This record gives sequence, structure tokens and C-alpha cells, in this order.
Amino acid sequence: MANLTDEIKKRRTFAIISHPDAGKTTLTEKLLLFGGAIHVAGAVKSNKIKKTATSDWMEIEKQRGISVATSVMGFEYEGFKINILDTPGHQDFAEDTFRTLTAVDSVIIVIDAAKGVEQQTRRLMEVCRMRNTPVIIFVNKMDREGRDPFDILDELENELKIKVRPLSWPINMGAKFKGVYNIYEHDLSLFKPDKQHVTERMEIKDINDPHIDEVVGKDDAQKLRDDIELIDGVYPPFDELDYLDGHLAPVFFGSALNTFGVKELLDCFIHIAPSPQPTQAVERVVEPGEEKFTGFVFKIQANMDPNHRSCIAFVKVCSGVFHRNQYYYHVRSDKQMRFTAPTAFMAQKKEIIDEVYPGDVVGLPDNGVFKIGDTLTEGEKIHFKGLPSFSPEMFKYIENTDPMKTKQLNKGIEQLMDEGVAQLFVNQFNNRKIIGTVGQLQFEVIQYRLLHEYGASCRWEPVHLYKACWIESDDDEALEAFKRRKHQFMALDREGRDVFLADSSYVLSIAQQDFPKIKFHFTSEF
Ligand code: GDP
Repeated sequence: MANLTDEIKKRRTFAIISHPDAGKTTLTEKLLLFGGAIHVAGAVKSNKIKKTATSDWMEIEKQRGISVATSVMGFEYEGFKINILDTPGHQDFAEDTFRTLTAVDSVIIVIDAAKGVEQQTRRLMEVCRMRNTPVIIFVNKMDREGRDPFDILDELENELKIKVRPLSWPINMGAKFKGVYNIYEHDLSLFKPDKQHVTERMEIKDINDPHIDEVVGKDDAQKLRDDIELIDGVYPPFDELDYLDGHLAPVFFGSALNTFGVKELLDCFIHIAPSPQPTQAVERVVEPGEEKFTGFVFKIQANMDPNHRSCIAFVKVCSGVFHRNQYYYHVRSDKQMRFTAPTAFMAQKKEIIDEVYPGDVVGLPDNGVFKIGDTLTEGEKIHFKGLPSFSPEMFKYIENTDPMKTKQLNKGIEQLMDEGVAQLFVNQFNNRKIIGTVGQLQFEVIQYRLLHEYGASCRWEPVHLYKACWIESDDDEALEAFKRRKHQFMALDREGRDVFLADSSYVLSIAQQDFPKIKFHFTSEF
């Protein structure tokens, strides 16, 4: 067995996040290209959904074999083991992305140079800030006319609420884009549009090297020197600890499509990005170097292979080494379990693996035993934190349209909820099932999957709700009084917890005023 400390040190587990279309898929692909994990561009299928239409989603469903394999992409680069955890680009799956962010040690944010900071990026950054996740920013599409790089830096600071420090700097942009100067390594890359190959880097002594004038021209060389002087004057030197604390984001410029500026990003990333970090459990902090294995399920995906009805649970290893065929303790069910065919994810392949180290993700075949957030250990009863369900924003009654298939429908709903696709509440007044989601698309996805995977058909009926919030109180009588008063609006979630369904923000705030002894929670974890 390899040395655990060494294995931890060489691992980098991160996610690339962006607003749809900024270039996340393209950048992912180029990183894999460097890692030798794929050989031609275009090999990575995007698992994003461009339009809010079921047909697009169905197309993805057909390609599931591919998109799932790309959920986790591991590859080796310069002696490092790199794991990219893919996140769905579509905002209706934001919750999926939030959960994936609990399994990474750092993040690369891709920004479109012309569009700057967009909505989805802002939301994702909030999650990073909550968790103090270190972020590196890649300003993409410099081959197109975009905003002034200094303006972009200002916008990043203001909108993402994080200090920034450029570590590379563009020489012009759009049609006049000439290349990037690598502030971190003091070299220069000249831009040549090329989708397949990597541009050679030119070693230069320093920013005053006359060679720069020769290759980019006197005027642009002077402008570059002025810019760098300004940067050094305005921004303090790059402080790695500040970055690791999540307070400072280094910024790179480039063009993912042209494989340009990407290597600079990757080379810096492997050196500064954190190796697997301690994980906070409810009971204690778990260090990756601990001898005993612990891990948690951050994602469940059903029906990987259309020919077999199977689920896979994605387990992030937090400490120790996971071994094939060894018994592990499944904390929630209080049972021992053994896995004969755990899978590792290397680039687009998945393969059976014997040992899995902290920072890596192992795929476990699942026939309904796992739920998101479940913990596996060697016997210790711990629970990993930070995987809350957020209060959904859209609600619909789900109605069975085929009474012969009631069992299938219920099973399908249970499994999709286990996957974390949406949340189920049962109204205690009329006993009807309500599905809550964060986006419209999820309703279409659920309906489609219930039909195609479980043979059950359903219909949606409107229910006018504003928010579902979990309630609790130290005062049992006050809780009962509240539940009596609001009995038409009380529901249970799948864990049997009390949920208040408020039909307007007004009703909610009045309820908060009238029942001061009741605590209202907007995430399921409190
Ligand atoms: P994602 O939605 O963030 O995954 O974005 P994609 O990687 O799918 O890219 C969205 C579009 O932008 C695609 O048409 C890409 O070809 C294009 N694109 C990505 N990177 C660049 C770039 O550096 N320059 C230009 N001009 N286009 C790019």
C-alpha cells in the first residue's frame, strides 16, 4: 500500500463552476487534454442543458453513460492526481452543484470576458464564501472583444466579494489579442488560434526583456509594462495563505477554446491549490491522514447503464483508505456493508478499484440503501455536515394517473428523492403529496424519469405555496398550538419532520410574529 501522507499530498480535488456558456466544458476538456486523459478536443460531452425543454434533457438522458462518467474525472498530471467534479450547468440543478461543492477542496471559476460576472456565478460564489473554499478565476474568451481587464478585476472584487490578484495578464484582446504574460512564472505565451495544440511558452528574463518588444511590437510591449507596473502598484503581492483561506482569488486570462492560458492556470493550480482538507463532522473534525476510512455520499445517480437498472452512490473519501471487499459501517442504517465492485473514475472510464484515497471519489453500486449525506466509516458513529436541503422554491401536487402502477410510482418517487432531485412533503390535512424543487425543469425531468425508468405516469397539479420551512420549538405546547392553528398547512418531510407550508411571504412573516416560540428554518439542517 502506498504511503497515505504522500497520496494525500499529491491529490487535488476541485470543481469548475461558471454561468452557463462561459466555457466550463471547454476548459474541463482542455485540462483533460493536458493530463493525457483524452487525446482530441470534443471528446467531453457537455452535460449541460441549454434550453428549458424536456427534449434537451431526454437527449442527455440517452447520453447518460457519458455524462455520468464525466461526473468525476480523474487524471494524472506532473505527478499529481487531479479530480475534477463536474457540476450541472443548468441553474435548475443548482442544488446538485451546491452539494458537489461540499466534496471539493477548491474551485476554479470561469468568467466570460465580455459578460463579466453573471447571476449563476454570484450564487455559486456565495456557497464558496460560506465554506471558505479557495477559488482561482479564469477569465475566458480573450480572443473575443471583451471588457477592459482592469474593469473585469474591479467587477470580480465587487460582485464576488473577494480580493483578487492577477497572476497572468493579457496583451490586448479580440482580433488584436497577442498573448498573455505570466506574472507568476515570468514568461510569455504568444497567441496563435489553435484548438488542438498548446502554445509554446517563451522564457524571458523579466518584464523589461527587449525580446518582448521584438515579438509583440514596441507599443504593446510598453503598454504591457505599464499595466504590470500598475498591477504591482495596486495589488499586493500574491499571498498563498490568503488564497487558501478563501480571501484572495488569483486571476488568469486566456481562451479555453484555443487552449490558451490554460497551461499557465493548471501549472499554478497544482502548486497552490490545497490537497484534501479536514472535513467537519457533527461530532468532530476528521483529518484526511487518519488511519481509519471515513467518507460520505454527495451524489446518487440512477440508471447509469440503460440496460441494467442500477444506481451508483458517489462517495467522497475523507480519511484513511477505502478497500474493496472490506466491511464498512453505514451509520444511518447501523449496518455493516461490503462492496465487491467499487469503481474509480479516470477520465471517461470507470474501472473497478481496490484502494481509494482521501480526495478521491469512489462509486458504489446502490440498490436503494444510500441517501445523500450518508456516512461510511470503520465503526465510528459520525455524521458529516454541510449537506442541507434548501427550502424549495416551486411546488406542485403530484397525482397518479395510472392506478395500476401506484407501487411503481411510489418507488420511483422515493428513489428520485433519495437522489436529491427534489423534495417530497406530505400534506397532513389532505394527505396529498407535494413535490418541491428549485426549478421548473425538475418537474419535467421527474415526470419523464418516472415514466421511463419506473413505468409510472403522473400529472402535476398547481398548489399555491411560497415557502416550505422546517419548524421546531423547545416548547412542546407552543409547537402543538401552532400545528393546530395551521393544520391545513402542515406537512411532513421524508424524515417525518414538521414542515410549515406558507402560501405567501405575508403569511410567513405574520406566523413568525404571532408564534415567537417557534423556530422557522429554511434549510433542512439546523
Ligand atoms: P459551459 O456552458 O460553461 O460549459 O460553456 P462551453 O464550454 O460549452 O462553451 C460555450 C460556448 O463558448 C461554446 O460555443 C464554446 O465553443 C465557446 N467558447 C469556449 N471558450 C471559448 C474561447 O476561449 N473563445 C471563444 N471565442 N469561444 C469560446
